Amino acid sequence: MNIIKVLSQSVADKIAAGEVAERPSSVVKELVENSIDAGATKIRVEIKKGGVGYICVTDNGCGIPEEQVDTAFLRHATSKLSDIDDLYRISTMGFRGEALASICAVAEIEIITKTAEAEEGTYLKLVHGEPVEKELMACGNGTTMTVKNLFANIPARMKFLKKDSTEAGYVADLLSRIALSRPDIAISYICDDKEIFATGGDGKLNNVILQIYGLDHARALIPVDYTEDGIHISGVLGKPELARGNRTRQTLFVNGRYVKNHVIGKVTEEAFRNTMMTGKFPFFVLNIELPFELVDVNVHPAKTEIKFANEKQIYDVAYHAVKNAVYNSETPEKTSENAVKESVKNDYYKEKPAVKAYDRQETHVNVNTVKEYLNSTIPEKYEDTKKPEKVVFFREEDSVNNPFKKSEELLDALLGDEPKREPEQVAMPDVEINEKTYDVKIIGQLFDTYILCQEGDELVLVDQHAAHERLRFEKLKEAYLKKERLSQMLLTPIVLTLSYNEKQTVMDNIAEYLKFGFEIEDMGGNSIIVHGTPVMGDDGTIRDLILELSDAMENNIKHPVADFEERALDMISCKYAIKANKKLDITEMQDLIKRVSEMENNGVRTCPHGRPIRVKITKTEIEKMFKRIV
Ligand code: ADP
Ligand code: MG
Repeated sequence: MNIIKVLSQSVADKIAAGEVAERPSSVVKELVENSIDAGATKIRVEIKKGGVGYICVTDNGCGIPEEQVDTAFLRHATSKLSDIDDLYRISTMGFRGEALASICAVAEIEIITKTAEAEEGTYLKLVHGEPVEKELMACGNGTTMTVKNLFANIPARMKFLKKDSTEAGYVADLLSRIALSRPDIAISYICDDKEIFATGGDGKLNNVILQIYGLDHARALIPVDYTEDGIHISGVLGKPELARGNRTRQTLFVNGRYVKNHVIGKVTEEAFRNTMMTGKFPFFVLNIELPFELVDVNVHPAKTEIKFANEKQIYDVAYHAVKNAVYNSETPEKTSENAVKESVKNDYYKEKPAVKAYDRQETHVNVNTVKEYLNSTIPEKYEDTKKPEKVVFFREEDSVNNPFKKSEELLDALLGDEPKREPEQVAMPDVEINEKTYDVKIIGQLFDTYILCQEGDELVLVDQHAAHERLRFEKLKEAYLKKERLSQMLLTPIVLTLSYNEKQTVMDNIAEYLKFGFEIEDMGGNSIIVHGTPVMGDDGTIRDLILELSDAMENNIKHPVADFEERALDMISCKYAIKANKKLDITEMQDLIKRVSEMENNGVRTCPHGRPIRVKITKTEIEKMFKRIV
């Protein structure tokens, strides 16, 4: 049996440090929370190499007096708590007095700090917990903490870290949540010399969302502000078009502190149940303010998981809050566009021509309203961006001697969601519709959605969306399996501005995107440039698709599914297939029906989701309906 021994102080410190300083983002969290507790109104965070090499947090807070600087780095040294009863009532972020001690046990720290009263500031350097240098120094009010070579003395923890870009993503995620919880503080984040975001600190949540998630989010928000039973719920809810395939864009604060709790997520899904597809999760940033008694105190206050003493009550209040907000947003004078319009319509755009990248994004809201306010804020030269894209076809084999492909092109050109192609670029194919071979007579289109045909002794109804989706899917799949290039190159590439993490995920999966026909390149900042896509669509559709695929790719990394490729191709074909409610002329119908029959001959009878492409009613059935026969 092993002998029981007391751990040496340095080992004990490293173990304790592991709980606070788990990875670069947790170090940043502690440092930024200290800055907030110090009353800072400006906080600048800079990291390099995923934060392992370098983290620097600068604030304009109260600073630390010279004689207390050393004490701040001792374990259980805090200025915020002295009595255990304070523990659950505290309004400060930190209170355990162990963050600085823990961080300095596993890194090199340099601090420069000055209070408003002091004439000079203090510089102190500690290496693995030991002070090595201290001097007085001229500096501004506030504190700068620099953490270098994190975990250099704990190789085991080092190995457990992910690649730099992933760690930097965690930092971005953390900082964006802090920024969302404190619109009154100007927070900037710089990673490897690039500014990722900078909030203005003007107290407006919409402006923080604009900075972090981009304009398409900022203009599709529904404000929430509701009180019941002493519980106050405020913040914003994204309109259904902002919903994504996972919950990463749901941010919940309880009394201002970021927490994880699925109750509110469920409430929002419930509220949008009829307007949103299943498997989609709404965007929101919400804060619940409630008396501390209503939070389950058995959960450690430092943890992000939280339990409510009475979940049902919170659920009900939140449900009313969300339903109310959605309802109010539908009455014209209270639309969130107006709200955004007011809060966003400041001098921001005039100062920042960077908005150029935003204007290409699809508008999800009342285009006229948005246009109106954009026109008043965006320089004229950016206006003309919704012109149809010119398209060239990339694949060599789409050539003259392949009538099937040509007919497909014609159909795509005629039926595609967006009339993007210049008509003269589409060669008219010489496809002969041989009705005799198929014995099909087209009767017409029903509800702009179904094509009715007479086929021998049967009335056949073809669902045009399901049919087209399946055709697209088969075509993409065939090309994919043959490892052919799926891209069609865009003459005018599309520039998309994403959030930091979205862009990171897209860049991480760039090779995967290429397999599916998306030719994407880094544009710097949070932007990407799309040179080629597997199928045509407007900017908004392509953006949605890229983000949906990125959710799917991330999920697939965590929980690989065997038929992932099929699913991805399915997502692509579904987005671009002709919709129900689209008028087709007779040639279009003939072409579609011809190809449906060909597929049917090959045994394909459903859309990729399993919905039938065609249903039949026999002559006998019809005659029975009319009681011609019994
Ligand atoms: P805690 O935040 O739990 O009190 P820390 O180890 O994080 O413990 O910090 C110890 C003390 O150092 C804090 O209580 C605070 O007095 C002081 N301190 C740390 N960072 C700052 C800062 N950026 N500005 C002013 N004081 C700070
Ligand atoms: Mg702290």
